[in-house]
Amino acid sequence: MVREIDMYRELDMDPMLCQQIDRLKNDACLPTDELRQLLAVCDQPAVRAYLAEQARTVQKTIFGQTVYMRGLIEFTNYCQNDCHYCGIRKSNRNVSRYRLTNDEILDCCAAGHRKGFRTFVLQGGEDPFYTDERLLRLIKQIKQNWPDCALTLSVGEKPFSSYAAYRRAGADRYLLRHETADPGHYSALHPANLTAAKRQRCLADLKRLGYQTGCGFMVGSPGQTREHLLSDLLFMKRFQPEMAGIGPFLPHHDTPYKNQPAGSFELTLALISILRLLLPNLLLSATTALGTIHPEGREQGILAGANVVMPNLSPEPVRDQYCLYDNKLNSGAESGEGLSDLAGRLAGIGYKLVVARGDYMDHRSTAFCNPAGQPLTGKSGEHMPA
Ligand code: SAH
Repeated sequence: MVREIDMYRELDMDPMLCQQIDRLKNDACLPTDELRQLLAVCDQPAVRAYLAEQARTVQKTIFGQTVYMRGLIEFTNYCQNDCHYCGIRKSNRNVSRYRLTNDEILDCCAAGHRKGFRTFVLQGGEDPFYTDERLLRLIKQIKQNWPDCALTLSVGEKPFSSYAAYRRAGADRYLLRHETADPGHYSALHPANLTAAKRQRCLADLKRLGYQTGCGFMVGSPGQTREHLLSDLLFMKRFQPEMAGIGPFLPHHDTPYKNQPAGSFELTLALISILRLLLPNLLLSATTALGTIHPEGREQGILAGANVVMPNLSPEPVRDQYCLYDNKLNSGAESGEGLSDLAGRLAGIGYKLVVARGDYMDHRSTAFCNPAGQPLTGKSGEHMPA
């Protein structure tokens, strides 16, 4: 760590660049041209180290050395969409498809709650089997059984009326990555029926309905340029998401992008740091893709400014089938069972995994404010009430 922090001094980083990053940190914004300049060099080791150091300072001021955990339940891998990058796309005939029953999902929540999870994330492909009626029943059951928990949905694009109904039923948060803010690039990554405008309209709807809303993008998706990344950052600064997830693009062998190179680990880390500086209060994930591309990806993500992890709570037998990209992690520290391993790894870098809902906290209001949470204690990740 010390070695990394010293690196920018040793490598004699351009003092102008340091000043720019300092301004980004102090003002949580930067003129577009300067952001463009920063993006051009942000993955160089010295710049990355300086960005991470500043991002950690902000992260520490707002969240202390705590990391929030979310229990991810991947409840269906059926999908009506055909996104070119995604392993569970509709036209991939080699996936064995599964759906969890209501009871299986509730069992995942129960097991997660015992371990100390206070947020459940229901994620799936866009699966028409889960009608609004079915989803509403599930949302109500989860909120009734675990009133101390937040519920996050991540089930794709829906009409306003559906989002409104889920919200009324008790859903608190919604994750819908914008994928890329550039309409042309969006069209290149997706089939013709999916557009950037539609995606962004969904995000606006979610925000209007009072969800804590999450967006995000893949780093290094095919055809992505730094100018696209600039659009992503500007979009996010404008949109002011409460949550975000970014991770490297990773190829899947049964997609049109099977031969495309993976996104850069270093660039992903630099972008995490920039996002922390641009949106200081952001609930920002060290994603599974980041953990997959590098053995210490998750820890490096936290050290770059992320403050959320999302271990997998899905039942063992189906986990390999929610395969968005090759070699996707779903065991060990990436899983509910491996929570004590994860807590240990985070403790190793000086961070505490906490038992808390971990809601978004606004600068100006404490309306969402929760106590920072208790540290996760007990052997094998089992939560011991204090
Ligand atoms: N149907 C939901 C969930 C999509 S999967 C929705 O539309 O929001 C969650 C995220 O995984 C996607 O938003 C995408 O950014 C990411 N993802 C999919 N394929 C990927 C790949 N090959 N590499 C890296 N990330 C990928």
